Amino acid sequence: MKVPFLDLKAISAQYRDELVAAATRVIDSGWYVHGREHEAFEREFAEFSGAGACVGVANGLDALTLIFRAYREMGLVRPGDEVIVPANTYIASVLSVTENGLKPVLVEPDPGSFNIDPARIEDALTARTRAILPVHLYGQIADMPAICALAGKHGLLVVEDAAQAHGAELHGRKSGTWGDAAGFSFYPTKNLGALGDAGCVLTRDERLAEAIRALRNYGSQVKYHNLYQGPNSRLDEIQAAFLRVRLRHLADETRRRRRVALRYLAEIRNDEVALPRVASGSEGHVWHLFVVRVKDREGFTSHLAARGIQTAIHYPVPPHLQPCYPGLHALSRPLTEEIHREVVSLPMSPLLTDGQVDEVVSAVNAWSARPVARESLVCA
Ligand SMILES: *Cc1c(COP(=O)(O)O)cnc(C)c1O
Repeated sequence: MKVPFLDLKAISAQYRDELVAAATRVIDSGWYVHGREHEAFEREFAEFSGAGACVGVANGLDALTLIFRAYREMGLVRPGDEVIVPANTYIASVLSVTENGLKPVLVEPDPGSFNIDPARIEDALTARTRAILPVHLYGQIADMPAICALAGKHGLLVVEDAAQAHGAELHGRKSGTWGDAAGFSFYPTKNLGALGDAGCVLTRDERLAEAIRALRNYGSQVKYHNLYQGPNSRLDEIQAAFLRVRLRHLADETRRRRRVALRYLAEIRNDEVALPRVASGSEGHVWHLFVVRVKDREGFTSHLAARGIQTAIHYPVPPHLQPCYPGLHALSRPLTEEIHREVVSLPMSPLLTDGQVDEVVSAVNAWSARPVARESLVCA
């Protein structure tokens, strides 16, 4: 493979000494859950994001699920209430809603940016709508000024799914600081990845933060006293220690991702390959993924694979057509369905070399779905 899609082994190898030192510190401390590393990471990630409080949890899905669970405990949402969710998202966004007995109302995206289209949100509002869950898909912040304005006008909560957008900015303001709360994932493939599962909630709402701190720990604020019937969703010391290492390098890695993306945007020239649209004011895109659209996806990915270029599909099946949601199968979401048929993620990593980017660009530019006519290959 000349150009791997994402080489996690090489990403960890860059920081091997720092990661080993972090692991050693935890091993030698004799304290493995909710200790000093966890506390330090919560503080450092909150500082990095410019938000009030960071609450570490076991993974990104739990972060989102526990936000809605806390809102239920606080009496702000009730089972059966509706939450506006992008139709075009990773399944976890929708799972966090249905896990709480809430009803996801799936709204179509802007086909250029792939993010939820605020113009379509207002039509989807009903008397039972309580919250909007925008997802900053592929690393680009959704149209938060419009979404927050709508939420303000209709008295709705805004919960950001920032699992793909660590450090992303819009008009100079970071992901996770726009809404009432945000969920982040530190799954290994994310821009800020642990060496295992981890996640966090970011919020300025101290009451919400307190509720989630209890919920993540069997619903307990004081040991052996349980306020809620909570799950166990804690972020391990060793993962927190690894994340502190990765966080120190995140800004640099993001700069390197942007360089790759800017080259793709400037140098890919192929009428059959639609490039992603960067919304104005979104220079803060962190390029978790670089996603293009191609009508003949099968042909395109085989063409790249034959040249040693690995690609991925994010995602092949939209949430409303998943077997786990038979009740949503009758929905028609044509933009979302078209996107899911056409998207291809090109290699994207802070470690791509200029030479590897050259390989991707020239292979993409050489692609044509129309087979070259036989006669044209024959010299007259
Ligand atoms: C990864 C991801 C999640 C879930 O995070 P996990 O840590 O894998 O549970 C949620 N939403 C989006 C958009 C994601 O990409």
